Amino acid sequence: MCASLGDALLSRGDFARIVGASHVLAPEEDDGAAHFGHDATVVRGLSGRPGLVVRPCCASEVAAVLALCWERSIPLVPRGGGTGLAGGAVPLGGEVVCSLARLRGIREFEPSLWRIFPEAGVRTRDVQRLARENGLLFPPDPGASGESLIGGNVATNAGGPHAFKYGPVGAFVTGLEAVVAPGEVIALGGAGRRDVAGYDLQSLLVGSEGTLGIITAVRLRLLPAPAAASALLSFFPSRAAGCAAVLAVLAAGVVPSALDFLDGPSLRFAAAGCPEGPPPAEAEFALLAEVDGTAAEVSSSLAELTAATAAHSIEMRSPSVKELWAWRDTVPGAVASVRGGKLSEDVSVPVERLSEALSGLDEIAARSGLPHCAWGHGADSIVHANLLLDPSAAEERSAAAAAAEEIFALAVSLGGSISGEHGVGLLKGGRLALQWPEAALRLHEEVKRAFDPRGLLNPGKKLAR
Ligand SMILES: Cc1cc2nc3c(=O)[nH]c(=O)nc-3n(C[C@H](O)[C@H](O)[C@H](O)COP(=O)(O)OP(=O)(O)OC[C@H]3O[C@@H](n4cnc5c(N)ncnc54)[C@H](O)[C@@H]3O)c2cc1C
Repeated sequence: MCASLGDALLSRGDFARIVGASHVLAPEEDDGAAHFGHDATVVRGLSGRPGLVVRPCCASEVAAVLALCWERSIPLVPRGGGTGLAGGAVPLGGEVVCSLARLRGIREFEPSLWRIFPEAGVRTRDVQRLARENGLLFPPDPGASGESLIGGNVATNAGGPHAFKYGPVGAFVTGLEAVVAPGEVIALGGAGRRDVAGYDLQSLLVGSEGTLGIITAVRLRLLPAPAAASALLSFFPSRAAGCAAVLAVLAAGVVPSALDFLDGPSLRFAAAGCPEGPPPAEAEFALLAEVDGTAAEVSSSLAELTAATAAHSIEMRSPSVKELWAWRDTVPGAVASVRGGKLSEDVSVPVERLSEALSGLDEIAARSGLPHCAWGHGADSIVHANLLLDPSAAEERSAAAAAAEEIFALAVSLGGSISGEHGVGLLKGGRLALQWPEAALRLHEEVKRAFDPRGLLNPGKKLAR
């Protein structure tokens, strides 16, 4: 069910009555609405056009917006910070884009009870900062935390390097407020930590990418901040040695807060900012590890981590935690600048298949004729597989797209998933059928119908097939 551009426009006055005229933007008026036609996938050439952009300021306005869309059969795309890497917030044409960015309140913050209740439009970094300033920790650290919003993080169940020890955003959600069809505000879960009374509707909304409801506020649990943290950067002579080191860390029972990897080509592309100088010339793999806890725990974990990886490694460095992650943040940009663009996927595999996944990626990339590299979260075994391309070359773009299909199939053949982090959105629509049986696909579609029988919530996204 898709409206024409005109359907939303015709209702402009009614949306304005809900949110105020200055909070309704139209693409043809050059008032900033065009910005809402894309998310971070714009670098892959993905962009659409909203019918209208509406910017409600509270849950009741969001509910009124959805109710109006429901009444007029106008599809709606919820939008957070627009940093998504799957095209989930991209309007296909004619939808009302509902920006949650004005829902910026902190409804409750109780540091002594380790919990916070931000509205959906609070920036991820501000949740992290508030926690930190009060001796607490909100561990999820998705890479675009300066721009992404907490509602978007929940809607994508975002991860990041520290998800290995602490879990992704969903692991911190104890309750949600959401607007569901046909325009009602519901509260699920709460400030308490356990609730097993009904079907887990809250978890269905976590990671639902705007297809089941609009998240307006999130109850999050926090943790006391660890007293200390240290980093270890180890280099390995081969991918096999590096992957063996990941398994050795797990077998030793050490729990690093993060254990990311970079393969040889990534190391060479991002060599310039590497802490303590460029990586050793013979390095084909690196592990970026962090441990945290009390000072004593950090020191013993670091010793165990060093012991577990030493046999496989050719060099170890001890940068500060800040230096390590500042360098890691430069990697995607350094890689993209090599040829002007890249196609990056986020498949996951069981950790013991990581080495096979990386070898498989070599073969796929060789067939595509494109240079490639990979990095990711080693212990969670999420592989950011990158094909480097000239974005102006149509044949390279289509070679990369064909390679991506092979990468999905490879991950599934190894017992993994087409997406370990960024979600399905538009870009991976239909690929769930690669990894789920028919009966599960049917349930996926029935869940969508139960929440959204008229298919108006983010249509065309997170499709199973
Ligand atoms: C440089 C960079 C680094 C990144 N690093 C990571 C990373 O480490 N880990 C990771 O997991 N992701 C990462 N991402 C991807 C992205 O930041 C996350 O997916 C993030 O959670 C998206 O949040 P957002 O607010 O920008 O959502 P948007 O991009 O606006 O939306 C994403 C999806 O959620 C839906 N949505 C947004 N808000 C709501 C809401 N309130 N209610 C219902 N649905 C909603 C949208 O419809 C869309 O389908 C990165 C992106 C960039 C650009």
